[in-house]
Amino acid sequence: MSKKGMVYLVGAGPGEPKLSTLRAKELIERCNVLVFDNLANPELRKWTRKECIQIDVGKSPGRHTVEQRDIEKTLVEHAASGSMVVRLKGGDPFVFGRCAEEMLALDKADIAYEVVPGVTAALACAGYAGLPLSHRECGSTISFLTGHEDLTKEELRVDFSKFAQVGGTLCIYMGMSKLEEIVEKLLNGGMSPDIPSAVVSNGTLPSQKKIISSLKDLVSSTKKAGLGAPAIVFIGNAIGRTGDKANWFEKRLLFGRKLVLTRPTGQVSKFKEKLEQFGAEVMELPLIKILPSEDKKLIAEVFAGIATYEWVVFTSANGAREFMRLFFLAYGDIRSFGPMRIACVGESTAEVFRSHCLEVEIVAEKSTAENLAKDLVATDSLDSANVLVVTGNRNREVLVQMLEDIGHAIVDTLPLYETDFTDVTEALDLKKFRELGADAIIFTSSSTALSYIEQEDDLVLDQEAIKPIICSFGPETSKTLSENELTVELECSNPSIEDMTSKLVEYFS
Ligand code: SAH
Repeated sequence: MSKKGMVYLVGAGPGEPKLSTLRAKELIERCNVLVFDNLANPELRKWTRKECIQIDVGKSPGRHTVEQRDIEKTLVEHAASGSMVVRLKGGDPFVFGRCAEEMLALDKADIAYEVVPGVTAALACAGYAGLPLSHRECGSTISFLTGHEDLTKEELRVDFSKFAQVGGTLCIYMGMSKLEEIVEKLLNGGMSPDIPSAVVSNGTLPSQKKIISSLKDLVSSTKKAGLGAPAIVFIGNAIGRTGDKANWFEKRLLFGRKLVLTRPTGQVSKFKEKLEQFGAEVMELPLIKILPSEDKKLIAEVFAGIATYEWVVFTSANGAREFMRLFFLAYGDIRSFGPMRIACVGESTAEVFRSHCLEVEIVAEKSTAENLAKDLVATDSLDSANVLVVTGNRNREVLVQMLEDIGHAIVDTLPLYETDFTDVTEALDLKKFRELGADAIIFTSSSTALSYIEQEDDLVLDQEAIKPIICSFGPETSKTLSENELTVELECSNPSIEDMTSKLVEYFS
């Protein structure tokens, strides 16, 4: 008989993936089966292994709701056949999460489980909306209530008129569809019509919205602002103790902006993080992939004769990184680098060498291969000099030709990687991009632009979607884009993540 598996009842947190626990992350990364509902942010599913079976048991329009007992059956069946199952629930599994029923079903089937708490929506929404739930003078109790527990049930479960007398702060989950009735009951129960109230919808997400008003105006203000579920309703004097300044989350300069990155997977993390710090929602549509070059013989020859070069020229940060990786594999000691002078196409490329305390003599003022060649020729040091040009498989011809024809250098080229187009239909964020569109799409190289153009049919936006502005890292990329009738709105003056980020911040704020 096969060994039984285990079920982890895991809180996914309120929305923002970084608010999930370390335990949640490690379990999602390891599990064989992930059973999730729609409050758990889809971003968390990207942490799963390729082989992980993902089962959607959420309620969504046009689809039958999966019955609670069928969810329990799914958990039991997969665990009984030996799988490690993560049951992912929004927020905390024990707060209005029907966890007790699942635990009972697992106990009955003699299946082991672990409960992983999560940040519940009330706490997260309060924090991200800058609304304190307690206050020394006016908020000594905090109550978590639910408007309804099940959409199909008509009645309010809680006697709100009684809660009018409890005082402190009320945090109401699932209250939106019955908001009018809830407010009426609280007022009838004797609660002051002027008590501060708030609604926070989509808390912690780039789509977060909030309103603050008095209890008597809560329904009309919520309607006017168009707030919908999921939302938490807060009522209590403590939440009125902070002013507009507390709006730290929604005040960030790129808050709510959807930005698309097109760099290869694995190269976006620093950029993504930077943009997210400013509140942007980042979508990833990797349009190219970087594959290491296979010409081992050529690599060995170049590295054997490395001491013979006077200049080594780099046209991309990818090439620079791969060159240094191979260099350390071959020599293991920076002193073997020798007196070669280094020239780079741009700042990010130069950074690779500076991080090894190697001086970069030339960084092209405008980051194009042509400008780099001009700057090199201007040094008057190329005549009969041995020059090594380290490149990918694209955009090297102009540079080499100029160094040879104008500078009279003896040029060897060392292609260290190949750039290939990815199949954009495989990008996880493609569906979202087509449905919602974006505020900006950022092209980091001509190849990302060419790949976009080649696959434009698969990238057509839905009618309602926002049309993104086009941003380019440098003149060469811009040229490729404009030659294909794509108007460039923003271009880096000094191609780097920092420069593009500040251009975006300036544009959108
Ligand atoms: N177990 C969850 C609650 C599930 S009940 C938790 O601990 O958070 C579902 C309700 O949670 C929603 O109707 C809404 O009231 C609230 N909710 C969940 N996520 C939310 C979010 N990001 N913003 C606002 N409310 C949210």
